[in-house]
Amino acid sequence: MDDDLETQVCMLQSHMDGMILRAQKNEEMLKRFQDLEMRLLSLNSLRELIEHIHDDALLVFNLEAMSLVLADDSGEINQFLTEDGFRFDEYKSVILLSDVALFKEKLGLSQRILLGEARDKLPKEFWPAKKKSPETVAIIPLVRRGVYLGCMVFASNDGSRFQVDMATYFLERLGKVLSVCMENTLNYEQLRRSSLFDTLTGVNNRRFFEQRIDEEILRSLRTGESLTCLFIDIDFFKKVNDNFGHQVGDMALTHVAERLRDQLRSNDILARYGGEEFVALLPTASEKKGIEAAERMRKAVSEAILEIPGHPALELTVSIGVSTFVVDQPGVSEPIDKSILIEVADKAVYLAKNAGRNVVISGGEVMAGSTVKKQSA
Ligand code: GH3
Ligand code: MG
Ligand code: MG
Repeated sequence: MDDDLETQVCMLQSHMDGMILRAQKNEEMLKRFQDLEMRLLSLNSLRELIEHIHDDALLVFNLEAMSLVLADDSGEINQFLTEDGFRFDEYKSVILLSDVALFKEKLGLSQRILLGEARDKLPKEFWPAKKKSPETVAIIPLVRRGVYLGCMVFASNDGSRFQVDMATYFLERLGKVLSVCMENTLNYEQLRRSSLFDTLTGVNNRRFFEQRIDEEILRSLRTGESLTCLFIDIDFFKKVNDNFGHQVGDMALTHVAERLRDQLRSNDILARYGGEEFVALLPTASEKKGIEAAERMRKAVSEAILEIPGHPALELTVSIGVSTFVVDQPGVSEPIDKSILIEVADKAVYLAKNAGRNVVISGGEVMAGSTVKKQSA
């Protein structure tokens, strides 16, 4: 009887030990999971979010491999990541799919986690082409407001790791948190870009230009290097709209913006100032260098013929006015109001129009302290 009791106590003891161990493990898991959640919620760039979820999920969930598959029908995610320097070659298991219908087709509408053997459950589109297929997977849908944002595949080479009847509380919760983070981050990225870029032409917008010109003027004052501003106006643009319609007009604007951008260096700034007018800022460029750049831009636009199916080929030209900010005493000279620099370039465009269009004219140098030094044509 005593022996029996002792055996029972031992069994209970070991049962309790097992439970305590499991509770401790769950607590550790919860802690790591909460840390991951907090990190994800604090990020606001898409690149960071994707890198973190990829690197951290592997550690937190002790996975052998994973993939993150994102719906990208418009190519926007690809563009955001490329602009932010995301290393696609390092993150081969981040997959962008333009065919977004695949998610519904492969995962169904229930938006539940799919568990089981990879050969039954894992669609080939959700795994990197050259990567060895795992044994078992958990496919976690990322869904917001009934729309698939993508899915995450957690993978294991252990045939018993992800089984149909396993508890999925953490995975479900991670899927929901990540979906909210993805949606927020995408909204944030769109907003960030729309406040800096012109949505039609993709070059910077006027607001960005107005900020940068102030910064560049201050930089010139510190370094003593000059700063050239170009004001660029498309010639006879109204005729394009009148003859071919507004849509062709919009295409022509984008076409010109691209030709102008092609001629600039990476640290030059090109912005749409309004309508069919663009401005460029060339930091460190003297008047002579500025005129040369403007000449290159003028020539590039006039030589690039725009072919639009169903329309006659369009030959566009631009007139460009140049102004250059010069600083004679770096660190001492006074700043100027940016409007003076823009105004001198704008007036030069007017002269270019009168001179017959498709020409570059310089309005001369603007000295620190606001005097226009010379007018050269
Ligand atoms: P000029 O050689 O003297 O510059 O002649 P212009 O016709 O280019 O000049 P004007 O300022 O008279 O006309 C500019 C035209 O640009 C008028 C407007 O319809 C067009 N425009 C402005 N913004 C847009 C736009 O976003 N899309 C399109 N399609 N047209 C635009
Ligand atoms: Mg104009
Ligand atoms: Mg014009």
